[in-house]
Amino acid sequence: MASADETRFANVASNIFPVSNSTTPYWRTELHEIDSIRSSEDLPSECDVLIVGAGLSGVSTAYHLLDDNPSPPSIVLLEAREVCSGATGRNGGHLMMIWSWIDEISKEFGLEAAKEVALFQRDQVYAMKAVAEKEKLDCDAILTRCFEVVLDQRHFDAASKVYQKQLEDGLDFIQDVNFVGPKHAEKLSGVKGAKGGVTTTALQLWPYKFVSGLLSRLLERSPSLNVQTHTPVTSIIASNDGTSIVHTPRGTIRAQKIVFATNGYTTGIVPEFEKKIVPIKISCSHISAPEDSPNPPPQLTHTYGLSYTPSSRDYLIPRPDGGVICGGARYTYKDDQKLWFNRWDDSTVLEATRPHFESVMQKNFRGWEKSGAAVDYLWSGIIGHTADGYPLCGKVPGKENHFILAGYNGGGMPHIFLTAKGIAKMIREDAAFEKSGIPRIFKITEERLRKDVQPRPNQ
Ligand SMILES: Cc1cc2nc3c(=O)[nH]c(=O)nc-3n(C[C@H](O)[C@H](O)[C@H](O)COP(=O)(O)OP(=O)(O)OC[C@H]3O[C@@H](n4cnc5c(N)ncnc54)[C@H](O)[C@@H]3O)c2cc1C
Repeated sequence: MASADETRFANVASNIFPVSNSTTPYWRTELHEIDSIRSSEDLPSECDVLIVGAGLSGVSTAYHLLDDNPSPPSIVLLEAREVCSGATGRNGGHLMMIWSWIDEISKEFGLEAAKEVALFQRDQVYAMKAVAEKEKLDCDAILTRCFEVVLDQRHFDAASKVYQKQLEDGLDFIQDVNFVGPKHAEKLSGVKGAKGGVTTTALQLWPYKFVSGLLSRLLERSPSLNVQTHTPVTSIIASNDGTSIVHTPRGTIRAQKIVFATNGYTTGIVPEFEKKIVPIKISCSHISAPEDSPNPPPQLTHTYGLSYTPSSRDYLIPRPDGGVICGGARYTYKDDQKLWFNRWDDSTVLEATRPHFESVMQKNFRGWEKSGAAVDYLWSGIIGHTADGYPLCGKVPGKENHFILAGYNGGGMPHIFLTAKGIAKMIREDAAFEKSGIPRIFKITEERLRKDVQPRPNQ
């Protein structure tokens, strides 16, 4: 049944809007002073660029529009809740090459397209590390290796073949992929029963602190940026002169250009995206051992993907304080579609995942068996699925002044920062998508929008 919040905007085309009483993720336990910022008491009446959504997509777009720009546009950033209160403030804090994608893309779109995405993901790691350093963001950014551990023999055999094929194809990103065979898999990964896997360069960070810190830097130096939290956009009406009138409960704004950085919630304000970006509810946890545990667990030295079967996977990062952020556990609720498909209420948790997270460290990691590790935060968040599983980025078809970066499916972090750079380039230089640097398969096209999203219980 829809919650009160889910029916709040029942008079608009779709009622997919962020709810006001969301669960509290671990990442939002230390709030930045700009968390509920309003740059001015009243909304500006007009702006050059209006960005909807203050997650990683929206704030990165603002950053690239303003960075090193001697004639910055006037920007209004509208956020329905608080800064970084959507998926970015609820995720696993993990950026890595999504190795399984590369083979899929290669089969469907060819080697060049696969290479483009792999290098884009790798570059993202370094680009986000660089901006965290340049802007002195206190966000626990750590350059590391992600260990994609495979626990199923047949899955491992298939993965070995993919790796061999990538070597033969001479793909240049393969230099960064380290294949680990069965001989040393358990010892190197620390995962009991590991059949093998790959390691790739990765970045882990505190995503809320990255986004709120970056936005705070922009506000310090950019008078042309106006941020308004607790200001949901309810509808957008295109005018004949090419501008758009953006409606909110606090008034309207006329904008030259709009950027939709609303990910799983996009359909709420762009009804054309119904069934094209579908909100999906997923689960994440923070796990730690008691400080006085007689058997303190070892500090993990990698970030991880744990593939139990080809269709069941967890991901986790170690925190510098010894705790762990772990997400996944889909197998525990995937058969009950109404819990997660086309769901946008993150005010409740997916309780079925709790027992899995309570025991995931003890079951899988050497040295954690008697640690007493337990879940101390469990929360939910909303991602956006697309029909083909890839993000939708660029100019909204048929809308000259509307741009979008959304629909990252399970993995936005390895794509968003540089996609936002590409969107900003399209706006700043009136550049074509093909000059934006965004991988070709992410381009939003009418053809891609013809297909509807189907439930994918394993992702
Ligand atoms: C539990 C969980 C774990 C995840 N783990 C990982 C991971 O480890 N690695 C990874 O790569 N990805 C992960 N993801 C996915 C990743 O977090 C997302 O792809 C990414 O954060 C999307 O960023 P965004 O800025 O586009 O969207 P969001 O962060 O969701 O931001 C969109 C913003 O738009 C606002 N908004 C929506 N509608 C309106 C409106 N009408 N008016 C005004 N504002 C509006 C929302 O309130 C929200 O703040 C995870 C996601 C979840 C939920």
